[in-house]
Amino acid sequence: MVLVQLVYVSRPSRPLVSSDLMAILGTARERNANDGVTGMLCYSGDFFLQILEGERARVCATFQRISRDERHRDVYLLCYLYPERRLFSEWGMGYVGLGDIPRELVLRHSEDGAMRPILTDPHIAMAFLADIANHVSETQTALL
Ligand code: FAD
Repeated sequence: MVLVQLVYVSRPSRPLVSSDLMAILGTARERNANDGVTGMLCYSGDFFLQILEGERARVCATFQRISRDERHRDVYLLCYLYPERRLFSEWGMGYVGLGDIPRELVLRHSEDGAMRPILTDPHIAMAFLADIANHVSETQTALL
């Protein structure tokens, strides 16, 4: 199996309520379980940051479906890597609201706490996601 990690950013097409997020995560978790895809969806109200991990063809097919989804727009690929192992092997699709993440975790990657460096620099995005992986495994918060 060729393992890949794909990270993209996007903006919601309209303000989303928790039932919208539940619908997205319900579909994501069902499809990803069948496809052996894992990852994490981060949502701030203004943007999504999502990492998909798994077999290359499955991850690419998943990203193609996600890219077509009208619930978000301005979908930009941020990084595409061939890692040795998954960051989120326990999560068919975990979820974190960025408001729930300790501010010091964001400040590690952005001097003023703004999300822009994380959303535009692939190295910073991956370091941030690695910290999120540690945070959720310590606190088990990614359950929505
Ligand atoms: P269909 O189910 O045929 O849907 C076609 C279109 O209808 C969708 O593109 C969407 O625009 C719309 N739609 C579908 N369901 C709803 C709904 N409940 N409310 C409003 N509009 C709807 N899918 C995964 O498999 N894995 C993921 O990790 C994943 N993450 C996602 C992250 C985000 C931010 C978003 C917005 C969607 C995500 N999805 C994910 C869902 C994905 O976009 C597809 O809807 C899903 O994979 C089913 O694909 P499909 O081609 O069968 O679409």
